[in-house]
Amino acid sequence: MANLGITTVGEAKEIRGMNLIAAHSHIRGLGIDAETLEPRAASQGLVGQARARKAAAIILKMVQEGKIAGRAVLMAGPPSTGKTAIAMAMAQSLGPDVPFTMLSSSEIFSLDMSKTEALTQAFRQSIGVRIKEESEVIEGEVVEIQIDRSVTGGHKQGKLTMKTTDMETMYDLGTKMIDGLTKEKVMAGDIISIDKSSGKITKLGRSFTRSRDYDAMGPDTKFVQCPEGEIQTRKESVHTVSLHEIDVINSRTQGFLALFSGDTGEIRSEVRDQINIKVGEWKEEGKAEIVPGVLFIDEVHMLDIECFSYINRALESELSPIVIMASNRGNTRIRGTNYRSPHGLPLDFLDRVVIMPTYPYGPEEIKEILAIRAQEEEITLSPDALALLTKIGQETGLRYSSHLITTASLIAAKRKSSLVEVGDVQRSYKLFFDQGRSSQYLQEYEKKFISEEGNVTFAGGD
Ligand code: ATP
Repeated sequence: MANLGITTVGEAKEIRGMNLIAAHSHIRGLGIDAETLEPRAASQGLVGQARARKAAAIILKMVQEGKIAGRAVLMAGPPSTGKTAIAMAMAQSLGPDVPFTMLSSSEIFSLDMSKTEALTQAFRQSIGVRIKEESEVIEGEVVEIQIDRSVTGGHKQGKLTMKTTDMETMYDLGTKMIDGLTKEKVMAGDIISIDKSSGKITKLGRSFTRSRDYDAMGPDTKFVQCPEGEIQTRKESVHTVSLHEIDVINSRTQGFLALFSGDTGEIRSEVRDQINIKVGEWKEEGKAEIVPGVLFIDEVHMLDIECFSYINRALESELSPIVIMASNRGNTRIRGTNYRSPHGLPLDFLDRVVIMPTYPYGPEEIKEILAIRAQEEEITLSPDALALLTKIGQETGLRYSSHLITTASLIAAKRKSSLVEVGDVQRSYKLFFDQGRSSQYLQEYEKKFISEEGNVTFAGGD
């Protein structure tokens, strides 16, 4: 499922694409030189594919500098050539509050909402709004702490009186606070700060003049007068939320509970219009900044003509992320039409897209990627097993041979060996088919399968 539910930008990055984490967990970044943007041969889990990595690095830099938004990039290349891996690497390298949303095109058609609504949510989830908030922090010296010991249940009610420069302020801290206070051993005579919005108390030090007396008195001393007042300060805090999060919170039908269920449903366009206006105002007033993030759309050829026109339009909007798409198709039919076109993308759309090709790997690169995968899964391969896996990888693709590492290690474990040998890979290869052998098998046994109409045709029997 696409992560179209609601999470903060930071959390979304952790939750994103759980099914992809395993396959790409060895990827830590683009592995490029920060100065020259040249990719290192093998770095941060990525091997080879230098041109696409360099192109990705340039795009990344522009995103980081907030220089581009509303552009579309297509990564085009055969299966298992690292398109998703490079997108994941880009996600790792974006700043912690730059949104990255991953969407597999087929999900658009399975969600409980219209295609365009699902796309709108994905687009708005990929745009961050960095909101600056001034929170008031008061510093001062504790004058008095009163604890009401009559309250049962393990917690105590209490009041804390604090002296600031211009006034003596009384804070009713409530049960939890006073409990925290006594644990922290804050007492009369301490210099503390209180964040008024969160209620967080930080102990900053002691008042020198009276500290000895206060120490002796303990936390529940009555009315100890404090001699000095302290300063009052303001601090700025910054949060980044996505436009989609703001939409959900402000959507009357869903409300903020949808934040927890992820079941956001369709959001009315009037709500979005109002939010766009509000965010625009915040921007004008210097209270907020727009952070265009990245929307990655995998298997983009699965989208239909309506989705492409939606994306085309959405990219023109002022609030648009950078859209990175991936396709492993050559010339193919555009879904929803009878026309064929490169990668299944309508020609006018293709025209506005920058294309980043990826190329098949050579044996050395395959070998190195497989070795990294084995290391990631903490599996030890014998040199011969790695050589065989590399050969299989060349013939069947990186993904299949990478899966064989896991299954071969289970076979090795069964014979109580922690080293995967050639025999384990061979057995695994026989047990689990790759795509080529699977089609061959289907051709041979097709008649024994249940056909679309539901009849079983027995081989040889008319
Ligand atoms: P598809 O078109 O089938 O979706 P893809 O081009 O997106 O394929 P990936 O899924 O990125 O291919 O690659 C397949 C596997 O190989 C993944 O586990 C991926 O992390 C790994 N991989 C691919 N390229 C590289 C690379 N250059 N360096 C390290 N690992 C790679």
